[in-house]
Amino acid sequence: MRWGLVGASRIASSYMIDALRAQDGADVVAVLSSDAARGRDFAGTHGIAHSFTDLDALLTEADVDAVYISTTNEKHHRQAMASIAAGKHVLCEKPLAMTLVDAGEMVRAAAARGVVFATNHHLRNAGSHLAIKALIDGGRIGNVLSARVFHAVNLPEHLRGWRINDAAAGGGVIPDIVVHDADTIRFHLSEDPVDVIAKAGTSGLGEGVEDSVMSVWSMPSGAMVQTHESFTHAFAGTGIEFHGTKGSIFARNVMTQQPTGEIWLVDESGRHDITFDSHNLYHRSMGLFHGAVKGTGRPSADGPDGVKSLAVALAVSEAAQTGQTVSVDYGGF
Ligand code: NDP
Repeated sequence: MRWGLVGASRIASSYMIDALRAQDGADVVAVLSSDAARGRDFAGTHGIAHSFTDLDALLTEADVDAVYISTTNEKHHRQAMASIAAGKHVLCEKPLAMTLVDAGEMVRAAAARGVVFATNHHLRNAGSHLAIKALIDGGRIGNVLSARVFHAVNLPEHLRGWRINDAAAGGGVIPDIVVHDADTIRFHLSEDPVDVIAKAGTSGLGEGVEDSVMSVWSMPSGAMVQTHESFTHAFAGTGIEFHGTKGSIFARNVMTQQPTGEIWLVDESGRHDITFDSHNLYHRSMGLFHGAVKGTGRPSADGPDGVKSLAVALAVSEAAQTGQTVSVDYGGF
């Protein structure tokens, strides 16, 4: 499978080129950058044969089967629609788009064109999260009453640019991190938030966009979810907890791109440390994507998953702006 990179991004160079090339028979053969010199440098650094500044040229000349879109968020929709129209399979970064309508259009277009479309939500691929889901699905904590997500991090200096100062490019902690937490909660609980309340603000980094948010979500089962996302917390650490009628699951340092962390379960019989696999998150998700293209299974997080995580993030944003409880609109998904 021949991949084209749409966007000469850090996530591509740090994680995704390696994950794509780790798949049998796959290579990365082209990259698109808006800046010809940066594109050439990027291609040279990563051993990519061709660089382009025009997406249509990449789609028609590079003979790629699939594209990985990792430009800033406001570009995803246009680039995905062009790629789908050209018959390419699409792995798109989160958030899929700036609006629910655009995200839905992308996913419906891919289905109509018969190409695989996936969202790059990495956390559900982590050994830690797979172990937590197995505990919940296996009934180890009974009925889930509540969940808490701790995802307040110290945004590294090199990632600060558009994320902290460019709302038009999709900056802000809500589009950046709440989407991942929404996907992770949906993955664990196998249900979609009904409504949300939230407060957001700045705490040292945001310039015209929020850098911190807390929210509470109601789930159809009656479970309540509490989340905290931030760019400004140097020492908080990350984590997730699920509390049920028969036990509680505690996980620390698992809301990360690395296969790290610690999980323990507490129930009537005491504390139980939980072991889990330490495979590369992105390698696993790319394996599932390649399988989906071959017709064996589905991507880790598909198009509707990306629409739904965006829907929750948009509801959190609206709730924070209005101070009202906001019903989550999934746009028909
Ligand atoms: P970057 O800021 O690294 O890249 C975004 C765009 O910025 C690139 O497409 C590139 O434009 C331009 N750019 C990159 N490096 C430079 C530079 N040195 N100078 C000037 N411009 C530059 O973004 P990220 O990689 O952090 O994020 C990209 C997307 O991936 C976002 O949608 C984000 O939400 C998502 N993401 C997802 C993660 C996940 O785990 N799923 C993790 C991190 C990000 P051009 O292509 O035109 O050259």
